[in-house]
Amino acid sequence: MCKVAIVPGTFDPITNGHIDIIKRSKKIFDSVIVAVAINSGKNPMFNFHERISLTKEVIDSDSELEGVVVEGVQGLLVDFAKRKNAKVIVRGLRAVSDFEYELQMAFMNRRLDSDIEMMYMMPYIKYSFLSSSIVKDVFINGGDISQFVPEIVIKHMREKFSDKGVLVK
Ligand code: ADP
Repeated sequence: MCKVAIVPGTFDPITNGHIDIIKRSKKIFDSVIVAVAINSGKNPMFNFHERISLTKEVIDSDSELEGVVVEGVQGLLVDFAKRKNAKVIVRGLRAVSDFEYELQMAFMNRRLDSDIEMMYMMPYIKYSFLSSSIVKDVFINGGDISQFVPEIVIKHMREKFSDKGVLVK
């Protein structure tokens, strides 16, 4: 049986921490689908379609991620997983602060569909305190984010800000 995993997130933007989790998932599962969520609550820097295409661009440019599929997801994640024949949803667990939210989500997803398992992976220590939000903050304030995101992401962030008339390095 082909084991499919979903790696969901907002990916606003995708960071090296996300990529670490996707690579780890790829080693374990036959097929990995990165599911980009709408997540209207987060007021993202990149809109839904931009996040899908940026995530795709990053994944397609990395030979270690060959075969990984990127899709947008609307509606319940467990429904999306079911449509894709996936039994596992993989999430990254960083510091303790992720735990409470992840626990809530795991219990809710189990109640919605008890056939689907949530799996958690720890990133490398160097990514443990990395988040899309901190990357955006550092970038907006003129800091160097090249250790945290692929070059393509920086290019798109620069474009986004020059569109808004903001000068960035
Ligand atoms: P969400 O809004 O669903 O939390 P994110 O894009 O912020 O979306 O995160 C998606 C997933 O990637 C989550 O499981 C999150 O814990 C994980 N993640 C984000 N950043 C990192 C990182 N630096 N290391 C490991 N996992 C991460």
